Amino acid sequence: MKKYTKITASIGPNCSDYETLSRMVSAGVNVCRLNFSHDTGTTQGQKIDTIRRVSQDLDTPVAIMVDLQGPKHRIGNFATEDKYPLVLGQTFTFDNDSTPGDSTRVQLPDTDVLSSLHVGDRILLNDGKIEMRVDSVSAESVSATVIRGDEIWSRRGFNLPDTEIATSVLTDKDRKDLEYAITQKPDYVAISFVQKPEDIAEVRDFITERTSHPIKIIAKIERPNAVERIADIAAAADGVMIARGDLAVEVPYAEVPAISRHIIRECRKMNKPVIVATQMLGSMVVSEFPTRAEITDVATAAYLRADCTMTSEETTIGINPVNVIETMSNILSHADADAIANPYDWSRVESIPENDWSRSVASMAYLNRASAIVVFARDTVTATEISCRKPDIPVIAICNESVIANQLCLARGVYPIYCPELFGMRDAFEAARRFHINTGKLVIVDEDKISLRTLD
Ligand code: PEP
Repeated sequence: MKKYTKITASIGPNCSDYETLSRMVSAGVNVCRLNFSHDTGTTQGQKIDTIRRVSQDLDTPVAIMVDLQGPKHRIGNFATEDKYPLVLGQTFTFDNDSTPGDSTRVQLPDTDVLSSLHVGDRILLNDGKIEMRVDSVSAESVSATVIRGDEIWSRRGFNLPDTEIATSVLTDKDRKDLEYAITQKPDYVAISFVQKPEDIAEVRDFITERTSHPIKIIAKIERPNAVERIADIAAAADGVMIARGDLAVEVPYAEVPAISRHIIRECRKMNKPVIVATQMLGSMVVSEFPTRAEITDVATAAYLRADCTMTSEETTIGINPVNVIETMSNILSHADADAIANPYDWSRVESIPENDWSRSVASMAYLNRASAIVVFARDTVTATEISCRKPDIPVIAICNESVIANQLCLARGVYPIYCPELFGMRDAFEAARRFHINTGKLVIVDEDKISLRTLD
């Protein structure tokens, strides 16, 4: 059974050896995500080397995605204890004083954050378990009332859903990590806590000033202001990740499904791939079996024609990362097959112009009941745009550069092949046969020429 929806696997201590990675790629991993919030530098470089070796040995393109930590803010340390009790209704102060904190105050080391807060803004700590509301702001401190939560811990991260933070999307740590990552020629860089399209331009400039390697940028959507500007952000980026972990802290959790659907629709309009991330098979960190709700969550991503699902702790620290990927592949293959057999009328929900070129390719394939679309891919654009029309047949991309083959690993239903020398009609037939497509018609796309051929 074919799997059209792709899998991004986060790579961590439990799955970074050659043997486990080989089994995960064989089981269906298309993109390997390296989270620079945890390991950095050469530790990540070693993982990248191993992934590249696995990809070469299995003759299977695998994309490498570097995920930068971004401006994840943390409060400072406390005096004697690691945590202090809070009382509902009490006043708590955040300031720029490095003296260890107590149950009335703590340092907020990022001055950019202090100066961005306004009266009435919410401050959420510890994954939203603590909620405070800002009462007053001065040049040195911010005072807030405790609305929810009964204890506050040292160094915990916090979210500011109501605040546009006047800071660069790249922290000093991100710049250092990205300098190193660029030397490793990753296929994608994922940017955390994007707020506006200009953030993507800033990262793109940073990259292009240092390398001509065509690294693509994924915008992680985890802030309400990014959701509001999703069309502009998707247009500026090369793809989008719905980072549901932080998103569910920053927006009311019940709104996450509707927001996810909205983001998928907008990405589709912009011809940009979209990844659904976080806790998809969360229980499998400690269990061999997914919950019923997780099975449905993974399948829903496929039914919505997302390009990619993602694993996080399930593979980085889970008890059986290979089993996680086998489970995810199994669910996706079944959901993909059902979604294709019982199609939803997408024409009613999308607003793609009738004369859109990729739509003509998909329509030609549909009207002629083609078995596959074969694209001679000299860049990622053509195959990605056709994939975003969700033609529900394989899009085989014959790529003359390995980086193009790797980057197409993210796009739904695209089967990339790296072949530096190929570029003739016979090669299109060979490519189809490689994916066991031996009969029927092929729509063949070579630059602006579209033709229909019958396999014999
Ligand atoms: C998320 O918040 O869902 C996410 C993918 O980001 P991270 O794992 O870096 O927190």
